[in-house]
Amino acid sequence: MNLILFGPPGAGKGTQAKYLVKKLDNFQISTGEILRNEIQKNSEIGKRIVNDMNDGKFVSDEIVNTLIENILSDPMKKNRLIFDGYPRSLSQAKNLEKLLLKNDQTIDFIFFLNVKKDVIIKRIENRKIIEKRSDDDLKIFIKRYDTYMATTKPVLDFYSKNSNFYEIDGSSEIAQITAKIDNFINV
Ligand code: AMP
Repeated sequence: MNLILFGPPGAGKGTQAKYLVKKLDNFQISTGEILRNEIQKNSEIGKRIVNDMNDGKFVSDEIVNTLIENILSDPMKKNRLIFDGYPRSLSQAKNLEKLLLKNDQTIDFIFFLNVKKDVIIKRIENRKIIEKRSDDDLKIFIKRYDTYMATTKPVLDFYSKNSNFYEIDGSSEIAQITAKIDNFINV
């Protein structure tokens, strides 16, 4: 089963993805996490993306799409993917469709965790204390949120017409969100 978790930064995609990975024995594809690892390793990709990441800007499609292509063509991960943070733009969504087709895969569920900006700001402030993420500064967060609204919203419009698209109130308790997802996937 392949799933997409969709929603603004701080909506709780990562938390739900980690739960689903265990439940379904799937793989979490968090592009943000993969990219942060590249920076930590100080790899060639890491050096190219560090400034954009720390500024709350998107990393280039070329880099992110290549990462996704490698994952989708990995036979061990076939139909076992939880997308968390990808696609984030209409061009990434279209690229994903192409790659799914090429690798004989489909998306079973798209979950949109909808949370208002003020609720997320509170969460981000807490996460900054716990995880010490350098892009969790409030000013950078607001930029990430605005970038999300500008470029990810069209993806939402694109997916919301699908019959496998479900909107969930992401401001409720973690366990409640999990229960709703469980109810939809019904496994
Ligand atoms: P996240 O952990 O999903 O909040 O992502 C953290 C940061 O990683 C984002 O603010 C972007 O700089 C970068 N990033 C993650 N996923 C993508 C993507 N699909 N396209 C472009 N940049 C991304």
